[in-house]
Amino acid sequence: MEDCIFCKIVKGEAPANKVWEDDEVLAFWDIRPSAPVHILIIPKKHLENVSAASNEDQALLGKIQLIAVEVAKKLNITDGFKVFTLNGSKAGQVVFHLHYHLQGGWKEKND
Ligand code: AMP
Ligand code: ZN
Repeated sequence: MEDCIFCKIVKGEAPANKVWEDDEVLAFWDIRPSAPVHILIIPKKHLENVSAASNEDQALLGKIQLIAVEVAKKLNITDGFKVFTLNGSKAGQVVFHLHYHLQGGWKEKND
């Protein structure tokens, strides 16, 4: 996808502050964090959102959740974190390359 900002990050054509990378998955800091720790975890493969995934993506989607836990450990937020994805513009999705938000680092409950 030529105009996809996250595909550009995957290809090294746009900058990102990476915290995890393997052959299938990339995680990097959100450019406009809405939590003390705010990471985006994406498949390198372009999928618009989770609705665009199919059975062949089952292992990839599971792997992303396990990577979220690994990144949470790495960033010391295992005491409380959220992993979520927005599906469609009505839900607030702005970037149409599947991404999971990993948020944490609050001092007390969600403040
Ligand atoms: P969503 O509403 O789930 O589509 O959220 C898109 C997220 O991507 C927002 O939290 C943005 O701050 C973030 N974002 C957009 N462009 C970039 C970028 N180039 N690098 C890092 N994060 C980005
Ligand atoms: Zn993309």
